[in-house]
Amino acid sequence: MTAEVNVKAKLGLDTIKVDDEQKHIQIDPEICKGCSLRPCLHICPAQVYTLDKNGEIVLDLDGCLECGTCKIACGRKAIKWNYPRGGFGIQLRFG
Ligand code: SF4
Repeated sequence: MTAEVNVKAKLGLDTIKVDDEQKHIQIDPEICKGCSLRPCLHICPAQVYTLDKNGEIVLDLDGCLECGTCKIACGRKAIKWNYPRGGFGIQLRFG
């Protein structure tokens, strides 16, 4: 018998320190404007990408798991992606 895993509870153990001076993900809003599919809204497991009231993509990096999925999913290459600087980003905890 296998025990169920509560993914949200597991992720809640992690800590994330967002670097507000040097964001590790940046989007080009001009390229985003012409995108009808907007895969970033659906592919990100942390729901980092949302729409503002004008229908433009906004990022809230507090939650980013640094999986890189958004960079791969964006076929228009609108996402500039780097790992965070040292001391910033996610600290994974297992428990
Ligand atoms: Fe979301 Fe992963 Fe991209 Fe972070 S790296 S914004 S978790 S898809």
